[in-house]
Amino acid sequence: MQRPRDKGVMLTRGQPGFDAAVLRTSFNGSDPGVRPKVLVQANDVFDVLSAVKRARREGLKISVCSGGHSWMQNHLREGGLLIDMSRLNRIEVDVEARLAVVGPGCWSVDLDKRLRRDDLFFPIAHAVDVCLGGYLLQGGFGWNSRVLGLACENVVGLDVVTAQGELVHASEHEHPDLFWAALGAGPGFFGVVVRYHLKVHPRPKVTALAMQVFRMRHLEEVFLWAEKVGPQVPRSVEFQLLLTRKATGIFSPGIEVIAPVLTHSWRQAREDTAFLSKGPLRAKASLAPPLLPVSTSLMSYLAAKRIFPPGMRWSVDNMWTDAPMSQILPGLQRIADTMPPMPSHVLMISWHPPEARQDMAFSVEGKHYLALYGEWRDQADDARYGNWATDNMKAMEHLSKGIQLADENLGKRQARFLSDAHFDRIQRIRAEYDPQGLFQTWKGH
Ligand SMILES: Cc1cc2nc3c(=O)[nH]c(=O)nc-3n(C[C@H](O)[C@H](O)[C@H](O)COP(=O)(O)OP(=O)(O)OC[C@H]3O[C@@H](n4cnc5c(N)ncnc54)[C@H](O)[C@@H]3O)c2cc1C
Repeated sequence: MQRPRDKGVMLTRGQPGFDAAVLRTSFNGSDPGVRPKVLVQANDVFDVLSAVKRARREGLKISVCSGGHSWMQNHLREGGLLIDMSRLNRIEVDVEARLAVVGPGCWSVDLDKRLRRDDLFFPIAHAVDVCLGGYLLQGGFGWNSRVLGLACENVVGLDVVTAQGELVHASEHEHPDLFWAALGAGPGFFGVVVRYHLKVHPRPKVTALAMQVFRMRHLEEVFLWAEKVGPQVPRSVEFQLLLTRKATGIFSPGIEVIAPVLTHSWRQAREDTAFLSKGPLRAKASLAPPLLPVSTSLMSYLAAKRIFPPGMRWSVDNMWTDAPMSQILPGLQRIADTMPPMPSHVLMISWHPPEARQDMAFSVEGKHYLALYGEWRDQADDARYGNWATDNMKAMEHLSKGIQLADENLGKRQARFLSDAHFDRIQRIRAEYDPQGLFQTWKGH
C-alpha cells in the first residue's frame, strides 16, 4: 500500500478508476472479487459525515478501512459504501502533556518518527505501514507492549462519527460505553474513528536484538525450553520463536529465537537477555550473534523485506493458548512439516499477560500466542495453500482459548475473540449506537 497523495473523492462502481482505487485500499495482493457500490476517499471529517448520511439515505451498509492491513480484507464486501480513511493521517503532539492526537490513516512508522523528535514513544505495530485505524481497535500488540500495555490501553479518547451521522468524543467520561467497545472491537466496531487521542511515553534509551537460530530438528527442545523460561523473561523483552523454511544464516528450515529488548541501559539489556545468551541450548544454536544495537524501525524494515513483502496472497490464522507445550508440539510439528515456502512463517510469542488489565472490550489472551502466515504469489496456488493456516488451527482448536483479532480470518474460520460477557455487552452497545445495523460487523456475524 502506498501513502495516498491524491485528494479525497467519491467514486461509484463502474466509473473509470473505481476498481483500481478499491484494490489500492488493500495490503493483500489478491482480488476477492467483491466490490462496494460506492467508495469514499475521505479527506476530512466532513467527508465522513456526508458519507454516513448518504449511506443512511440510500440504505447502504458501511465498511471502513485505514491502512488496509486486514489480512483477509475485512473492508471489502459486496455492495455498500466503503470509507477509506487513509488520508486522515495528521499527527499533533503535546510534549508537555505527553499526548498525541493522530488520524486513523497515520502509519505506525510515521508516528514513531514524529515522536522520536521529542524523545517520546508509543507501542506502534511491528510493521511500518500498519495504520492506527485498525490497529488500535483490535488491541494492538506493538513494540514494548509487554511494558506499556496493549496499544489500545494507551488510547485516552477517540473522535467518532456514529451511525446517526454525529461526531462525538468518546472517553472514560464521555460516551463511556462507546469508548469501552472501541478498545477491542476490532473489525466489529460500529462507527468511524476520525481521530485518536493517545498517551505517549518517554523513549527507551536502548533498543537491541538478541537472537539464536536452530535447525528444525531441535524444534521440540527449543519450544520446551521456551515454555520453561517464558514466565521469567523480563517484560522489556519480546520473546518470540519464528519458524521458517529459510532461517537466518542457515538458509534451511529452522527456528529463530528472537528477543528484541527495549530498556534504559545497555547493561540492563544484557541482563534482560541473559536467559538466551547464557541459556542451556546455546551450544546447539547454528547461529548465536552477540546482542546487537538495532532500532525498532530497522527491525521492522528488515522483517517487512523478508517476511511481509508486497503483492503476496495470504492466509493467516491464530490462537491464544495456555496448554502445556507437550500438547502443542504434535500440532506444531505438523505445521512445520506442511508450511508453504518462504516467506510463509509461524510465530509463537511467549506473551504471559499481566494479571489484570483495564476494563475494556478486549478480553481474550493467553500465555502463548501462535500465528500462522501462509504466503504465495501465484493465484494457481490458492487451492494448495489457501487453507493451510485455518486447517491447522482447526486441528488444534481443543487447545485454544480463542483468537487475536490482529491476525483474524473469521471469513474462513469462526473462533472466539471476546469473552462471552464482553461479546454480549458489545452487542448491546451496538444496538444503542447503530440500531439499524448500518455498519458491517465481524465477518460471519
Ligand atoms: C504486515 C502486517 C503486520 C502486522 N503487524 C502487527 C503488529 O505488529 N501488531 C498488531 O497488533 N497487529 C499487526 N497486524 C495486524 C493489524 O494491526 C490489523 O490488521 C489492523 O486491523 C490493521 O489496521 P489497518 O488500519 O492498517 O487496516 P484496515 O484493513 O484498514 O483495518 C482493519 C479493520 O479495522 C476497522 N477500521 C479501520 N480503520 C477504521 C476507522 N478509522 N474507523 C472504524 N473502523 C476502522 C475496519 O473494520 C477494517 O476492516 C499486522 C498486519 C499486517 C498485514
